[in-house]
Amino acid sequence: MDNSLLTLYFSYKSATKYVVDWLFSTVGREQFDQVHARPSTAEIVNAAILVRDQNLPVPKSVLNKLQDILKKRREVHSLYIERATSDNQEENLKHKAFIDRLEQTYQILSPLVKSTQSPLVQIGKETETTSSSGVNRYACLTDLDLTDRHEPDPEARNRDTISATNTPATEKAEQVLQDDELGEYIELSLLVYNLDAICAKVNGFWADAASGKLPIIVAGFLTNTAYHAAKRIIYNSPGLSNNATLIHKWYLTKRDFRIKFTDIPELQHNYQRFANNLGLMHYWQILHHCRTLDGYKNILPTASSRQHPTALIHKLVDSRESYELDDLAFDKMQESMRHLLVSGRAISALEEESMKAEPLLPALDAALRDPKSPIPTHLVFGMDMLLSTYKSFLWPKEQTNKVNCRISSLKFAKDIINSITNCMPFLEKLCWCQTPDHCTCPYKQYICEFRSKLELYVQEKRFDLYYQAPWVASGHMIEILHLSMDKGYFTSTTLF
Ligand SMILES: [Zn+2]
Repeated sequence: MDNSLLTLYFSYKSATKYVVDWLFSTVGREQFDQVHARPSTAEIVNAAILVRDQNLPVPKSVLNKLQDILKKRREVHSLYIERATSDNQEENLKHKAFIDRLEQTYQILSPLVKSTQSPLVQIGKETETTSSSGVNRYACLTDLDLTDRHEPDPEARNRDTISATNTPATEKAEQVLQDDELGEYIELSLLVYNLDAICAKVNGFWADAASGKLPIIVAGFLTNTAYHAAKRIIYNSPGLSNNATLIHKWYLTKRDFRIKFTDIPELQHNYQRFANNLGLMHYWQILHHCRTLDGYKNILPTASSRQHPTALIHKLVDSRESYELDDLAFDKMQESMRHLLVSGRAISALEEESMKAEPLLPALDAALRDPKSPIPTHLVFGMDMLLSTYKSFLWPKEQTNKVNCRISSLKFAKDIINSITNCMPFLEKLCWCQTPDHCTCPYKQYICEFRSKLELYVQEKRFDLYYQAPWVASGHMIEILHLSMDKGYFTSTTLF
């Protein structure tokens, strides 16, 4: 789609926020529908009618913004109509009704605009006002003119966005209207392509780790960062954090065309597991079944048994058929995760926060505890990333990568145990309590306690598919490394 689509949309959104914030701070939102966090255009019209009935002054800047919204909204709509392959009357009528209501708001407010300097601009003085709700924080904006005089220069559009974000109207997140279907579709598309882009990037890290270009622990750290970034992006799109809603809107609602965002290089890649290949639907179903169906009630005793990654994890293929191949692996991993939530994990003794090493576990735990709660999009995304990173690391090329990350993690812990053991004679020489055979010095106890936790960790004989997953094993390594540095620092600063 046209390169300017996103610029148009974001500019439209920030202008919408400006107008909506002014309207509701002037007439008060409490008298409107409290069920929805996001206002609808019908509420905006009603708010404008209240402004008119009370004969409240309307700042010129608000009217200019409204004009701007209408202009940009019409542009976005015409882009949509041009590219639609069929004439979806119902959808077109909805978009038209949306624009009509904004137009109606403009018609109601335009006669009320203040053309001369108002006493309301005298900031700091006691002012008289015709408003029954008193002076609001927009009063001083009455005579500001924020019209884009140089449109359609795209630079001017950017400046407009910046100008809008510098006003007091942008203290909260940008405004999304409840009945803005077209705007919602742009947001939805951006989110889904972003999830694919994040996964594609992370899979690249694991392919680099497989070929030795990147340490496993760094790939793990980057995967954690990407997961948390995805989570934030998902929460910034209201309504889409519920994965069932996202599935319905993306896969099940008929659309004439998909928006491609060709002007964003980061979104141009071949990985389309979520956008085209039902990645956000398939695992949602399994996750929902594992908390509701009787067949999943009892966790199989084999959930912690040894499983063979090369037999269960298949090469990364971007096609719908791959899901059937992956079902068994996914099923085994969710079973092991549920088992761990009940049986406990040796790594927990080394975690700074509960389940920090495995960020998917708390999300799964919450979903299992309340089977009626929506399954969060970040959990489905994370489970898919757990599997795709596995594939990228195990099959970087035609040949299987022989490195087993679970073994790497155990070796890493063992190396640290050995380092502690090796440095113990030196530490004992620094003994304060003068009884090296029964030393009670706090630093020694501190280090010994850490070593015991590591020993318990390496004794956990667990080689299920989930524990061997590169992301999971590297998560353990990160926690061990973090604690080792912490203990080392403490000991050296205590002793020297
Ligand atoms: Zn001592």
